[in-house]
Amino acid sequence: MPEFHRDTLAVRAAVERSAYGENSEALFLTSSFVQPDSATAARRFAGEEDGYIYSRFSNPTVASMEQRLAALEGAERCVATASGMAAILLLCLSQLKAGDHVVCSRSVFGATIKLLGSDLARFGVETTLVSQTDLAQWRAAIRPGRTRLLFAETPTNPLTEVCDIRALADLAHEAGALLAVDNCFATPALQRPMELGADVVVHSGTKYLDGQGRVVAGALCTGEAIAQSCVSTLRSAGMSLSPFNAWVVLKGMETLSLRMQAQSARALELARWLQQHAGIAAVHYPGLPSHPQHALAMAQQSGLGGAVVSFELRASTPEQARARAFHVIDSTRMLSITANLGDVKTLITHPASTSHGRLTEEQRQAAGISQGLIRIAVGLEHLGDIQSDLLRGLETLP
Ligand SMILES: *Cc1c(COP(=O)(O)O)cnc(C)c1O
Repeated sequence: MPEFHRDTLAVRAAVERSAYGENSEALFLTSSFVQPDSATAARRFAGEEDGYIYSRFSNPTVASMEQRLAALEGAERCVATASGMAAILLLCLSQLKAGDHVVCSRSVFGATIKLLGSDLARFGVETTLVSQTDLAQWRAAIRPGRTRLLFAETPTNPLTEVCDIRALADLAHEAGALLAVDNCFATPALQRPMELGADVVVHSGTKYLDGQGRVVAGALCTGEAIAQSCVSTLRSAGMSLSPFNAWVVLKGMETLSLRMQAQSARALELARWLQQHAGIAAVHYPGLPSHPQHALAMAQQSGLGGAVVSFELRASTPEQARARAFHVIDSTRMLSITANLGDVKTLITHPASTSHGRLTEEQRQAAGISQGLIRIAVGLEHLGDIQSDLLRGLETLP
């Protein structure tokens, strides 16, 4: 459906209606598909004829979700997976082999660093971690002939650091490597990495694509050739998305653009408001002119900062900072204390003791995750109610 605007594709792109003419996309909750006869089954299994076979690798609801996300990302193909981490595993399993080298930002999602840096290291894939924002470090880390993949995530969690997708794509292609971008925070509603030269876009459908905190899901968006090798690996490795979860994400994408705009607008207002509070030392949000990569973020993310804001409380020691952060979080009555993000409910978390809790204090400091840091994934509640909930703790800091 290339002639339609992205807003239209977000509600219309899907496989064709069944014989029953359903208006809302059907949920095909079936593990296998009945074949009309043996000869057809043989052709379908041999890949000589299209047709659904078995839901580990072919299901119309999953295909609808894939088509819709591919349309939003401007990708030829999308391959859905059981989770965001399964998408990254599938990417690595299908594109890398022992002896290959990966360059990855050290600010990416913690499980991604664990997967690349230790799980895949056992299979002979070596990863070098570099600064999110220093292009010279990415360039210096490339090993000619061995580096096969550059992996970036932008903006990052929880400090919202932004990297230059086009510059990284050029660097990857000069080296004969692929650039994969985890687009979980900005989503295709704001940022389309393939238009900027990325070869693969990684998604955790669990976050904004679902948008209401219901299911775990993931996907890779890419070109035809890479997608074919991913599907082949998925067929044997089996990190498939369930039709039910695909259906929830499929319907979630219908409101993605509206949610991202509304949640980004609230996040910007909240960030500005937090900046003025005497008890707060710093606010991290790409939509603020004070953000170090503000201009790049605005150019790359359709002029919006996304819905994640983090801020650091003033304190004289790490112990006091932690006590203050816990106080602000525990004084809320409405916000959900949970480390997820991408929900219409506003979520609050203390990265140093949750998502980054397994790092040593030294590693945490290197990553810029202080004990006084609080992350807020802004939802759709009225801004005044979010502010009141935060003010209760901010005005009574211990
Ligand atoms: C949550 C998340 C993931 C992992 O996704 P799951 O669906 O939880 O497996 C990967 N990258 C980023 C940026 C995330 O926020």
